[in-house]
Amino acid sequence: MDFAESPEHEMLRAAVRDVAAKYGHEYYAEKVRAGERATELWDAIGELGFLGVHLPEEYGGGGAGMVELAIVCEELAAQGCPLLLILVSPAICGELIATFGTAAQKDRWLRPMAEGAKMVFAITEPDAGSNSHNIATTATRDGDVYRLNGSKTYISGVDEADAMVVVTRTSTDPDSGRARLSLFVVDTDAPGLERTLIPMEISGPEKQFTLFFDDVEVPADRLLGGVDEGLRQVFVGLNPERIMSAAICTGVGRYALGKAAAYANDREVWGTPIGRHQGIAHPLATAKIEVELARLMTLKAAWLHDHQQLGSIPTHRASTHTERMSRQSAEAANMAKYAAAEAGLHALDAAIQTHGGNGLSSEYGLADLWGMVRLLRIAPVSREMVLNFVAQQSLGLPKSY
Ligand SMILES: Cc1cc2nc3c(=O)[nH]c(=O)nc-3n(C[C@H](O)[C@H](O)[C@H](O)COP(=O)(O)OP(=O)(O)OC[C@H]3O[C@@H](n4cnc5c(N)ncnc54)[C@H](O)[C@@H]3O)c2cc1C
Repeated sequence: MDFAESPEHEMLRAAVRDVAAKYGHEYYAEKVRAGERATELWDAIGELGFLGVHLPEEYGGGGAGMVELAIVCEELAAQGCPLLLILVSPAICGELIATFGTAAQKDRWLRPMAEGAKMVFAITEPDAGSNSHNIATTATRDGDVYRLNGSKTYISGVDEADAMVVVTRTSTDPDSGRARLSLFVVDTDAPGLERTLIPMEISGPEKQFTLFFDDVEVPADRLLGGVDEGLRQVFVGLNPERIMSAAICTGVGRYALGKAAAYANDREVWGTPIGRHQGIAHPLATAKIEVELARLMTLKAAWLHDHQQLGSIPTHRASTHTERMSRQSAEAANMAKYAAAEAGLHALDAAIQTHGGNGLSSEYGLADLWGMVRLLRIAPVSREMVLNFVAQQSLGLPKSY
């Protein structure tokens, strides 16, 4: 084992940090207040290849993996600029297309994505919620096309993207009644596709929408991977999404603790810096430990994902190694997302408390990040569904639902 960060990773961190620091949290907060996108920052990191760092080199990417994309995500958040669309565009859609796309699909979608073009992801439905087996948006074959009908909700960034990966039901298992899923790349301006904005209380540059598919015609060559293979395939994208969510939370945690430590060293109320009081110092120290533990698990999850994809996780102790690799990787992604959301929230809360009243002012740039980190306790997979996964898969406990 080697826990030392490689010189390449250190350089990547420094490069992302330098770009993000030029914009910083003030830029981010101003964009959010104005209801605008963080386009300049997104374009700047896109031009430098950071958004496609994990995509295959033959399609314009950097040829690295989730470890590197997690570094990009974390360093942006550590400058107070958490970007939700990294979770959906390069992490989920990029990984799904790179893994399951045909050469033509990769050429068409990955090349622009490697330069920063956005693609979004639609799985959540109003009635199915966390239960993807109940997905009701259908895709029905009709000659050379599929027809999509149904609705999706809380879909981030549809207004910013040309296309999205949509998870649909193509048939139903006759025994269980569960949906058999298939993935399609759908244009966001396809005829028959309507969207309505969902007013949200979280502060982020991305907006959320409910989508309505009314006989949306999708050419058959937009099918991603196999028909009815979507459930198995989708986790190749959802695990990276969990890892990036974790990276955002640890990044915001670092940002908050950095500000809190500076403030606690500087602010004097009783003739001594408030950081000397253990009531202030211990919550910050606890949060620091939690953030560092979550970072470890996040990088482990990213490493496992990358090595699972390459089929190169050491197998000396594995009996059925493919299954074991995939279980290890999913377990780590879930645990990282859980631990990082909790750590990020604790760090942000401790930092706000350290700042007293200032912690809730706009000027100190902390409270406006609360909604973003709080969101990541619910999405992309809720804390309870992670606990269900760990209870059943890691501990072998019976399923409750
Ligand atoms: C800001 C934002 C952005 C989003 N962006 C996207 C996006 O881009 N694309 C997309 O597809 N989706 C997106 N989502 C949706 C998000 O992934 C879901 O909100 C999330 O997966 C939870 O599903 P749900 O809201 O339907 O909750 P529900 O499934 O209705 O769950 C409600 C509550 O019940 C709990 N619960 C449910 N089942 C169980 C169980 N078996 N055991 C214990 N507890 C349970 C949950 O943990 C949760 O606390 C976004 C959501 C938000 C808020």
